Amino acid sequence: MIYLDANATTPPDPAVVEAMLPFLTEYFGNASSSHAAGRRARRAVEKARGQVAGMIGASAAEIVFTSGATESINSVLLFAQQEWSERPLLVISAVEHAAVGECANRWEQRGGRVKRVPVDANGLVNLDEYQAALEPGKTALVSMIWGNNETGVISPMSEIVMMAHAAGALVHADAVQMAGKLPLDVSKVPVDYLSLSGHKMHGPKGIGVLFVSRRAPFRPLLVGGGQESDRRSSTENVPGIVAMGKAAELAASWLQSEGPGELAALRNTFEKQLLAGWPDAVIHGARAERLPNTTSICLPGVDSAGMIILLDQRGIACSGGSACHTASLHPSPVLEAMGFSADHAGSTLRLSLSRMNSRDQVMAAVEDVIRTARHLVEQQGAAGLIN
Ligand code: PLP
Repeated sequence: MIYLDANATTPPDPAVVEAMLPFLTEYFGNASSSHAAGRRARRAVEKARGQVAGMIGASAAEIVFTSGATESINSVLLFAQQEWSERPLLVISAVEHAAVGECANRWEQRGGRVKRVPVDANGLVNLDEYQAALEPGKTALVSMIWGNNETGVISPMSEIVMMAHAAGALVHADAVQMAGKLPLDVSKVPVDYLSLSGHKMHGPKGIGVLFVSRRAPFRPLLVGGGQESDRRSSTENVPGIVAMGKAAELAASWLQSEGPGELAALRNTFEKQLLAGWPDAVIHGARAERLPNTTSICLPGVDSAGMIILLDQRGIACSGGSACHTASLHPSPVLEAMGFSADHAGSTLRLSLSRMNSRDQVMAAVEDVIRTARHLVEQQGAAGLIN
């Protein structure tokens, strides 16, 4: 299989699996137990906390392990509304992941206000509009997707943090897709909260991270035994946490290598080849800064649902809109927010590479994509669907 769907989930790195396995077998202790087995688990958890902190320029005490980014996001957004009823406004963008979008809907159901800042055709928020959306003294929280899961477009996070802080608002960054693809440093871009997901960075599913800046207030979503320094109760998922730590360590060293540049070059070659074979293809966010691994591409006149099935039969895994929301056939809200029609979204493929893809795989895939698209169009033509 040629797996080109890394934004949905990444293949676990074998070194990550190797690191976590002993904690599923002989080192099964509860990290809160005081005996040797517990102490071993505790040491492993704290080592992982340091590894994650190292990847994002945080201190270990600012790292909270959760069950995934969705939990991290819910923790921040639901807390923020309860905490600051005198500041009723939440500001997000029109291209957030559903985890943020649904929390925003709940924010409104509970009597708060939400402003969804629109994006342009390149998927970028306009900073003047962002500024205008912020109501000083009235905005509790700003939540912004840092790297978009569908298009790979990167948000101007530094500017957003500056504007939000000037308006007295705290900032949550959904950094799920940035992690392990581009450097993240909360000491340089001083967000207050940041969410990560293990399985998007070559770790396992069911483990996530919430960074809570030491300056930022926080009360937990999950209460109980007081684990994670009272910020997230429930017995620690030690194997998952160990895996997250290892994944962060590997990501940090890959980010310092030539890796990201090479990945971007490979993605760019893919796009160039695809455009050569399909000249009216439209690459979304092409004029914006993008994650090095993501291409979202419309092949006008080609049904992407059919493409995905045929490519799957040929051993190529990719997706159409956002794969995170199961198999819904609704047009992608992200493409809609960028001003594209439902037809356009229905002809869009998302291919997302990872550091585990070889050049040969990507070059084979581009040939197959073009061949499959031609085949589909011929079939549609033969059936009289197009003229
Ligand atoms: N945010 C973004 C940008 C995502 O792509 C995803 C998952 O697809 C999430 C949040 C939610 O992550 P998880 O499903 O791991 O909780």
